[in-house]
Amino acid sequence: MALTGELFIGGARHSTPHRFHAVDPARNSLLEPPFSAAGTAEVDAACALADAAFDPYRSLTPERRAAFLDAIAQHILDQGEGLLERAREETALPPARLTSERARTVGQLRVFAAELRSRAWLGLRVDPALPNRQPLPRPDLRQRKIPCGPVAVFGASNFPLAFSVAGGDSAAALAAGCPIVVKGHPSHPGTSEWVAAAIIAAAAETGMPAGVFSLLNGPDVALGAALVGDPRIAAVAFTGSRAGGQALMRASAARPKPIPVFAEMSSVNPVILLPSALASRAVSLAQAFVTSVSLGVGQFCTNPGLVLALEGPGMEQFVAAAAAALDAVPPGIMLNEGIRRNYAQGLERLAEQGAQRLAQAGAPEAPNAARAALFSVPAATLLARPALAEEVFGPASLLVRCSCPAEVRQIIERLDGQLTATVQMTDDDRALALQLLPALERKAGRILINGWPTGVEVSHAMVHGGPFPATSDGRSTSVGTLSIERFLRPVCYQGFPEDLLPAELHTTELSRWPHRFDGELRLGKPV
Ligand code: NAP
Repeated sequence: MALTGELFIGGARHSTPHRFHAVDPARNSLLEPPFSAAGTAEVDAACALADAAFDPYRSLTPERRAAFLDAIAQHILDQGEGLLERAREETALPPARLTSERARTVGQLRVFAAELRSRAWLGLRVDPALPNRQPLPRPDLRQRKIPCGPVAVFGASNFPLAFSVAGGDSAAALAAGCPIVVKGHPSHPGTSEWVAAAIIAAAAETGMPAGVFSLLNGPDVALGAALVGDPRIAAVAFTGSRAGGQALMRASAARPKPIPVFAEMSSVNPVILLPSALASRAVSLAQAFVTSVSLGVGQFCTNPGLVLALEGPGMEQFVAAAAAALDAVPPGIMLNEGIRRNYAQGLERLAEQGAQRLAQAGAPEAPNAARAALFSVPAATLLARPALAEEVFGPASLLVRCSCPAEVRQIIERLDGQLTATVQMTDDDRALALQLLPALERKAGRILINGWPTGVEVSHAMVHGGPFPATSDGRSTSVGTLSIERFLRPVCYQGFPEDLLPAELHTTELSRWPHRFDGELRLGKPV
């Protein structure tokens, strides 16, 4: 497919006189073609179409929307190597990573298609009428969830496929029945155009209303602010920096009618090394830690950026093995110049605040290349300077030397909200783990035992969320089928005659799907 650099407003391509280029981060050179930058006129046109598409789109059966998601997945696969090649040029991510990211993208579209067909997401409930109840009769009450309206999706720089144009947020919103207006990330507009073409083709093939999807590009924060400010947008999904997420939260709060902003922002994903685990497998822990921290040049929100360890010979062994393994990790090219600069500044900030560098000095030579780094501080320093525990986006981690379990617990209690928290332990660490787990539960959306936080399964039980600043709303997840909940709201139908009820709440339909009947959970029997 030849890229044109155009935007997509509804099903139609559109160009503007304002242009910007993608940059190849490995060479710091401009990539062709120039891309049209959207302004307020394009935001208005895309939101008007999304609004017009909302009722027709949400009225489609779950099977029709599932067919649309399946068709997007197939069109992405059919694009073959061209999509992956453009993504590689724009992100410097290696081909194997991009291939697996495409598989995840396609997989999550299909997971949502299956979820749609199950009707589990509808949250059907019936409290049948009790006409003879004393002192007052109860009316017939039925509940289902409906989509909230058009959703603004912000593509993430670090997942050009799985968290961008047809990524997890888009799949969840489209599954819920919400048209989407995507603000593509300016680091990979060509990848965005490829994927947008797949969505447009799938929409045409499956007969979706035109405004179900638009892609707006632009290198300027004003575009995102205009999109969030548009009165027809009903919710926002974002993955990126804490500053960016909070700016969108403020923009939403300033609207005459504020809307929910689901922002996934920053997390250092503490890993706690308990004494018996350190004593029995310090070297293998160090090797697995280095693999996790340096994966994808550390550009994962689940990167293990903070390690809490109890002082002793096991910890010293871990530090020595981790430092040696990190020294052997070659520099990697970061996603863009801004992210590399932020990473360098983050390392300087750690050093200025008293963290001692254990591994990787020397600046790498290639443009936008970065080395993995490990720093260390005594627990007392971290407790005195909590800013040391702020995210440094990239392959860096801070090891905290704790003198006793009480210090570990004190640090956990002082931490901000996290996407994940990990405990490395053996059976002999059980008593200590039991003391720490309640504190970790209060901080994190996902708790791992003897695993590593990078690598997020797209499934039904996954939570990729957590208290602020990991996300703007700790009650939600942005990965897995539960993420559809962000774009749904419950409606109760009281005293409705059967023929006015939505189809899935008709008495005959109900028996086919999972629902609560007078409080009792019923699984339903699809025919
Ligand atoms: P970003 O700066 O937050 O940008 C993400 C998206 O939000 C872009 O489309 C950006 O538009 C938009 N945006 C940012 N600030 C905005 C504002 N004030 N108003 C309206 N829109 C705004 O993230 P990034 O470009 O991916 O990377 C920058 C830094 O974010 C990294 O160095 C890293 O620290 C952090 N980051 C964290 C994660 C994570 O998962 N925790 C992931 C990626 C990045 P423009 O680009 O047009 O400004």
